[in-house]
Amino acid sequence: MVNKQIAQEDDINSRVGIYDRVITKQPPPYYIFEYLDEKFLYDTSACRFFCIDDPMFHFLELCRVYPIDRARNIFQKEGLFSFEIAESVENEVTILAKQGLFTVPNYSISTEQMERQLEQRYTAPWTKLELALSETCNLACKYCYCSTCRDMPNQGLMSETVARQAITWLFAMSGKNKNVSITFFGGEPLLNKSTLRFAIEYSQRLAKLHGKKVFYSMTTNGTMLDDEVIRFIKRYNFGLMVSLDGPPEIHNRQCPTRDGQDSFDAAAAGIKRLMARRRSVTVRCTMTHPVPRMLDLIHFFEDFGFTRIVLGRTVNPVNPSSVDCTAEDFQEIDRQEREEIIPWALNKLAIGETPKYFPYAKEFNTEPNVSPFKCGACRGTTTVGADGCLYPCHRFVGMRAWQIGNISDGPNYEKCKQFWRDYRSAIAGNCESCWLWAQCKGPCPWEIAQADGTFSKPQYCDLIEKHTIRSAYVNHERQKLSAVIPTKVSHKSQFVNCDDKKNVTKTNNN
Ligand code: SF4
Ligand code: SF4
Repeated sequence: MVNKQIAQEDDINSRVGIYDRVITKQPPPYYIFEYLDEKFLYDTSACRFFCIDDPMFHFLELCRVYPIDRARNIFQKEGLFSFEIAESVENEVTILAKQGLFTVPNYSISTEQMERQLEQRYTAPWTKLELALSETCNLACKYCYCSTCRDMPNQGLMSETVARQAITWLFAMSGKNKNVSITFFGGEPLLNKSTLRFAIEYSQRLAKLHGKKVFYSMTTNGTMLDDEVIRFIKRYNFGLMVSLDGPPEIHNRQCPTRDGQDSFDAAAAGIKRLMARRRSVTVRCTMTHPVPRMLDLIHFFEDFGFTRIVLGRTVNPVNPSSVDCTAEDFQEIDRQEREEIIPWALNKLAIGETPKYFPYAKEFNTEPNVSPFKCGACRGTTTVGADGCLYPCHRFVGMRAWQIGNISDGPNYEKCKQFWRDYRSAIAGNCESCWLWAQCKGPCPWEIAQADGTFSKPQYCDLIEKHTIRSAYVNHERQKLSAVIPTKVSHKSQFVNCDDKKNVTKTNNN
């Protein structure tokens, strides 16, 4: 739980203004930013974004530097706004202050809280497992973390014995839960169709025996999708992600076969075969340096028939290489998002269409809960390597220092707990004082993992911040659209409530 220091009227003056003047381990009470033609306020303890107008933005800028009385004096002396506007803004900020705008949330977590949450995490039933059916692949994608991050020998294909142990363990650990989930991963999982077939049949048998339902998901490069696999996908309604990096000139360059041949035609044929039987297919495209024009990629994937488009960027925390996105690439992605993609997405929404590429947060966290866990690592995303070794998630497979046990004994809970203790120690200095914590909840553990089994500090905060700001803007624009144009998109308007503040401010200014 977050310990709120509720701002009392008396101490607002003494507290406001310190945030930019001293290095503090506290997060700021609020954060203001501009994006395109809008200005925003984010209240860090209420976890809410507001769209605000120029006078309010300026006054809050002053409040970041000066105590509120001093800020008020400066605001009035500057004479940038009429007396009425200045007065209404000051009044509003005073009211917001009483409601906690200057409340400083506490994102630290005590050892006792940490241990309690770890205990809960590792005594609860276990319902998800990922199986690396094949640690090898028929493609040699230039950015693949499987080849660049692992330091263990490739363990090849998973045997039925290992798959059986994994599935037996999962059912045994699932307690009274009616649902279990199994994800098939690789390398390329379809290089091991016999174990895939076995895993499905065996898990179905256990499901029948124990009265449970199994949910399957899989990530594949599409080159080996045949009728039998497509039947499985259809019959059990697999969650599915297909990797394809764009049109032939990009995909073939980034993802040649192991013997250096083009792979686009085989992937496209398999995916088209799948699309003939299943309507919803998600593509994951990995962008490498130098990043291509994203809108061209999006149009290509739309024309291909994908129903959802995910564009990832290449980073490699362990062995950086020339295909990794550079700082310039990230700037270019940001420019493209701002100038091309957001206008494209908003146009789609305006005409009642759902953009197939929509990476912006559809919901913002509304509680600043301090959880020590970023994700399912060492829990729901635990991955069984082809030889039965266990890893925090599929991205760690083959990294010796990150093993967390073996499926014959189950996960080593002490290693799992230590993973999260070490993670928290590595990020606390940065994350506990970050305005974004409630939305971000820390970096992807793999992205700060090092080969020796330790974590570095968060590395991609700038990208996370830009993404969050874009999301706030897009959701604000989406709310404006939904107010006037009925669309097919379901709007969960509780998460960003930009309009509330703007309306108040504008009303007062009129
Ligand atoms: S990872 Fe970076 S952006 Fe996210 S909460 Fe931590 S410091 Fe903030
Ligand atoms: S967030 Fe990172 S560490 Fe966690 S499951 Fe995803 S890739 Fe793995």
